[in-house]
Amino acid sequence: METRSASLVVLDQPAVSELASQLRGQLVGPTDPGYDDVRRCWNGMIDKRPALVVRCAGPSDVRVAVEFARKHGLPVAVRGGGHNVSGNAICDGGLVVDLSGMRGVRVDPANRTVRAEGGATIGDLDRETQVFGLAVPMGVVSETGIAGLTLGGGLGWLRRRYGLSCDNLLSVDLVTASGELITVEPGQHPDLWWALAGGGGNFGVVTSFEFRAHPVGPEVYFAFVLHPRERAAAALRQWREWAADAPDEISSFAVLWRVPELPELPPEQHGRPAVVLLAMHSGDPAAGEEALRPLRELGTPVADLSGPMSYLGVQSFFDEDYPPHVMRYYWKSRYLTGLPDEAIDQLVSANDASPSPRSNIDIWQLGGAMSRRSVQATAFGDRSAPFLVGVESNWELPADDEAGVAWGRETFAQLAPFSMAGGYLNFPGFYEDHDRLVADTFGPNLGRLRATKRRYDPSNLFRLNHNIRPS
Ligand SMILES: Cc1cc2nc3c(=O)[nH]c(=O)nc-3n(C[C@H](O)[C@H](O)[C@H](O)COP(=O)(O)OP(=O)(O)OC[C@H]3O[C@@H](n4cnc5c(N)ncnc54)[C@H](O)[C@@H]3O)c2cc1C
Repeated sequence: METRSASLVVLDQPAVSELASQLRGQLVGPTDPGYDDVRRCWNGMIDKRPALVVRCAGPSDVRVAVEFARKHGLPVAVRGGGHNVSGNAICDGGLVVDLSGMRGVRVDPANRTVRAEGGATIGDLDRETQVFGLAVPMGVVSETGIAGLTLGGGLGWLRRRYGLSCDNLLSVDLVTASGELITVEPGQHPDLWWALAGGGGNFGVVTSFEFRAHPVGPEVYFAFVLHPRERAAAALRQWREWAADAPDEISSFAVLWRVPELPELPPEQHGRPAVVLLAMHSGDPAAGEEALRPLRELGTPVADLSGPMSYLGVQSFFDEDYPPHVMRYYWKSRYLTGLPDEAIDQLVSANDASPSPRSNIDIWQLGGAMSRRSVQATAFGDRSAPFLVGVESNWELPADDEAGVAWGRETFAQLAPFSMAGGYLNFPGFYEDHDRLVADTFGPNLGRLRATKRRYDPSNLFRLNHNIRPS
């Protein structure tokens, strides 16, 4: 309560009333109904109390909000889908530019392009593009925001065929720190254009994205093959060999987890550590079945739920595993230089040691189209890693926070000998060791990113992100 009233006292009330009168959307402060709803993030661990939340209805509201925050010296948080594990979509005592009401999507089927507003979710984009048998490479959980995901790169089931989400950008409408609304595309603002592909929310607020879309679906072939704990290391070694020759149409994962109590999974496996091999083939389902047969025949799985599935079904397959608000999450990542047997053994033991049955460790097969761009082609950085490990510590009770975070950190640390410097910045933990993480991840691109930041946001107004400091 103290913070609530303190937030209001420091703000100039006539100025706040004037701000409200300039908006098409809604201004929500600590004493307004609905305040507790608008300050919630996907991660239930995040409990921040902003002074003001501007629920933007369009780009003009975004401009007004940014100008107000700058003039009054308020910290600024930008909320797209609100999914980032760090909770940077919300801030204490500052102003939240909330785009979650801006979710419009328009597809141009003739040109295979799509424009989506900055608060759209992956599910919004997928539903509209699939009307025309099209898809944009996005992530694998449909409720995630396209904004944070694309600005940080964007890895999903189409990564090896069509690249990262940011590789498919055609243009971006952006409100800069000075409150200007500009269109950024290859011929306009070239440094900014380059920086937005991986440089995160450092350069302004994206009010809409234009993407290239590709023919995908409506049905694809999806593989889901479960191996028990006893075969976990062997299955991972076989998957590693199989993945080395997989065509770009296939993107796969190996997930170390505890088998959930689902009727379609063998009851004797429920609650036990195991590995599940998952893959999607993005072409014709019959060709996908043929191409994924060898993956399904690696050893003797204890369950095989593979089959043709709608692309929309694949895109929302994991949704129920990641409920918003109620669960607590801590996610970190490492790019591996390879997947040697020692790394596999380490990952299998880390999964055994997980204190929560809801946690998992995802090994993403990289390569393919996403890796065929040079380090300097986009701000994103080095794309040469063959695998990315996402350590996903997920649990339910506040009392387990310490154990959940500790397991995530420990597993992350144990992978150091097999890892490249830096990490995937969309799985940033709580940005521990922030400056080194950012410098290592961007590598040779950091200088150009800094220069671009100095030009477009010299006072570092947009700093609640993987921050590129102007100096
Ligand atoms: C359940 C789940 C599944 C995920 N799956 C994947 C996956 O398959 N692939 C993958 O690559 N990542 C995945 N992620 C990570 C995801 O990419 C990041 O969490 C990303 O930040 C989410 O974007 P958001 O808009 O929802 O986040 P928010 O929390 O709203 O925003 C994160 C940051 O992005 C910036 N930002 C947000 N909106 C804007 C905007 N309109 N303009 C400018 N800056 C903005 C801000 O700096 C903000 O702090 C997943 C995350 C979750 C929680």
